[in-house]
Amino acid sequence: MLINGARLPSEDRLMDVGVRNGLIVYVEPSGSDIAPAAKTVENGHGGVLLPGLVEPHIHLEKAYLLSRMEREAASLQEAIAMTADMKHSFTRSDMKERSLAVIREAVRNGVTHMRCHAEVDPILGLTAFEAALELKEQVRHALDLQIVVFPQEGISKSPGTTELMEEALRLGGDVVGGITYQDADLDGHLDCVFGLAEKYGKPLDFHADFFDNPEQVAIVGIAERTIASGMQGLVSAGHVTSLGSMPYEQAAAVAELIGKAGVHIMSLPATDLFINGRGDREKPRRGLTPVRMLMEKGVNVVIGVNNVRNPFTPFGKADPLETAWLLAVTAYMGGESDAKQLIRMLTDGAARALGLTDYGLGLGKTADMVLFGETSERDILLNKPESRTVWKRGVKVADSRTVSNLIGV
Ligand SMILES: [Zn+2]
Repeated sequence: MLINGARLPSEDRLMDVGVRNGLIVYVEPSGSDIAPAAKTVENGHGGVLLPGLVEPHIHLEKAYLLSRMEREAASLQEAIAMTADMKHSFTRSDMKERSLAVIREAVRNGVTHMRCHAEVDPILGLTAFEAALELKEQVRHALDLQIVVFPQEGISKSPGTTELMEEALRLGGDVVGGITYQDADLDGHLDCVFGLAEKYGKPLDFHADFFDNPEQVAIVGIAERTIASGMQGLVSAGHVTSLGSMPYEQAAAVAELIGKAGVHIMSLPATDLFINGRGDREKPRRGLTPVRMLMEKGVNVVIGVNNVRNPFTPFGKADPLETAWLLAVTAYMGGESDAKQLIRMLTDGAARALGLTDYGLGLGKTADMVLFGETSERDILLNKPESRTVWKRGVKVADSRTVSNLIGV
């Protein structure tokens, strides 16, 4: 297959991209006389071709709960409690159905890789995890799914959770999850999850410092442990919003430590903006992690949708461009170079956070790609177009013209 005349982020001329056996085997300027013969030719029409979008932080089994809620949550603790209540009635098929609805939408929108947090706790046991594991196989032709073994209800707070996490890791969990604000003893929590990461040889992904209270800085402990255990580059943390409420000098010092530890920071604006800042009667804070400061300190900052239509986030759809647009507005990222940066966060940055090694539009990489009609990253971000053509391992899985048939999940 050959895509003719597309714009690649790294090139200022139109390029042709050739794919064979699921891999990118040809990348040359359009019109080159060495262009190989192809069975299928797709006209790029000068639109931007990106590597597949990466959704680095999402909760599948608790998506689409609005119709089951009697009211909106007024705080993080209330969102956790409301969801824990609803979890008692989750069944495996119910979780799979709602998860699949999210995945279908994500694939249509150009997502080829996703990291989900599957809840492992005494309420659900391993059912959410097992449902995710089944989905991972079911959708693998369209999407690579990483599963975080996620102790949403806390570890010391919910006895039996460590054993469930171990079982999930033995069954094929990809990443050890942590949630620093659910357990009173931070050191004990970190001992447990860093211990599991070492024992099973897995990366770590935290929910951390989801507050607008500058006293909450579990991220410092996470960064220090990351360095001490030699896990630089293998640890991520979502939210980290307390950092945005800290005095500048103090926040800058923490950002520097995060950079040194190579911890990837996942900004989750749809949830963070909705939950944080509510206690401020005047001058309410936005409650985001300080994206620009972190990037200035060399931190890999990426963007996740986190939740889709539940007590934590009664908005949203599985479209990374919508989440990036929201961050652009609220983190003052309105320029052309900001748009390029935001697109890099959704692609190369998120791929780095997820440890993907065969990612990108280079020769020999897996042909996971999304083609837009827009001719610049800025237009992609501003238009959030419906029209996208998506390939997974060189096979077209979504096209604005014939979407549902092609996805097949
Ligand atoms: Zn989350």
